[in-house]
Amino acid sequence: MGQSQKVIDEVMEQVKKRDPDQPEFHQAVLEVLESLKPVIEKHPEFVEAGLLSRIVEPERQVIFRVPWFDDQGRPRMNRGYRVHFNSAIGPYKGGLRYHPSVNLGIIKFLGFEQTFKNSLTGLPIGGGKGGSDFDPKGKSDSEVMRFCQSFMTELFRYVGADIDVPAGDIGVGGREVGFLYGQYKRITMLYHGVLTGKGISYGGSLTRTEATGYGLLYFLEEMLKDNGKNIAGKTVVISGSGNVAIYALEKARQMGAKVVAMSDSNGYIFDPEGIKLDTIKRIKEIERKRIKVYVEEHPKAQYYEGSKGIWTIKCDIALPCATQNEIDGESAKTLVANGVWAVAEGANMPSTPEAIKTFQDNGVLFGPAKASNAGGVATSALEMSQNSMRLSWTFEEVDAKLKDIMVNIYRQISQAAREYGCEGDLAAGANIAGFLKVANAMMAQGL
Ligand code: GLU
Repeated sequence: MGQSQKVIDEVMEQVKKRDPDQPEFHQAVLEVLESLKPVIEKHPEFVEAGLLSRIVEPERQVIFRVPWFDDQGRPRMNRGYRVHFNSAIGPYKGGLRYHPSVNLGIIKFLGFEQTFKNSLTGLPIGGGKGGSDFDPKGKSDSEVMRFCQSFMTELFRYVGADIDVPAGDIGVGGREVGFLYGQYKRITMLYHGVLTGKGISYGGSLTRTEATGYGLLYFLEEMLKDNGKNIAGKTVVISGSGNVAIYALEKARQMGAKVVAMSDSNGYIFDPEGIKLDTIKRIKEIERKRIKVYVEEHPKAQYYEGSKGIWTIKCDIALPCATQNEIDGESAKTLVANGVWAVAEGANMPSTPEAIKTFQDNGVLFGPAKASNAGGVATSALEMSQNSMRLSWTFEEVDAKLKDIMVNIYRQISQAAREYGCEGDLAAGANIAGFLKVANAMMAQGL
């Protein structure tokens, strides 16, 4: 492994030298490169072609100004981003994130992860990501609309149905995609395929809303089945209460699990009787309120300040569906001490490297994000197909395809892990399988 370590050190040095202030991006790149050691040893041609230093560099990065007026008529300004990370296997594809923490390093880490995730879906989509440091929290519908219109007034130059197809991520859901799409159409007179996650009446796909959460549970089900276990009757903790978490809750309940806790960025709720889906959906999707109002309606439930405390709750299965690095080494140790035996990631990179190591060292079944949360983007690719064909599939048809895709992803990554000498390490398997497809396409297409 001496040779591969040297290659990795060199690539990491370049990455850090170019952009020293992007810790999340460095973390994501190092995690992938480390698991590629057996691939680097087996395929010296990738190193000879300089492929590793190319695959960690986005093809293109756009940063733009987004001016907008608030409801008081005051001019406001945010920064917009779109990173075209890799188009080797298809048009750039990946969500837009609106959150105050957004900066270029965050968008690059997400675009990098997206590239390998999209590769694992088996569908022809490259990797991209974008967003803004705009905070939708506390903004009115018309403020959000004006912001989205201004954002698209610049973004439209860089996207297109066969160029780059954005969708949602944190802070960007159906409402925002609708506003973005309306503005794109108004500027370009082009339709449908430019964004996914659209409303059903204007080109959206059935099951897209549910897809990331459902896909996470389909993946988990397959991972457990392969290890002689199942979900029914198990106690589950889901962090977050956005789109991914809500539909993970819905599917977990359908599969017979009891979900006892959920969270938002302020705190978490614990309901020993099992979280009520209808209440969560109403609070989050319709009223857009904080999760703590849940306990007003369900007196047996408790609310605790601080989102990290959710990992102190005893459970069999943990599904982190909030944000990056939400489970650190200490939280992972607490989870393990309390008996957790399976973790599947719904958010992007929610476990720190220390947390992953803790899970793996303690025999916890671990489903890495780029595999386990790929159901959302996979269904986005199915939306693109339906848009191209000018037809729409039923909920059952899309759901069946989603399930197939998630089962295939599980098999593909466990097979890759076996083939490259790291059996059972699904994080490595996902990186290896995702990488090989992109790398082979890049090799075929030349420098
Ligand atoms: N934001 C989602 C992800 O992280 C979905 C992206 C998409 O549908 O393009 O994969």
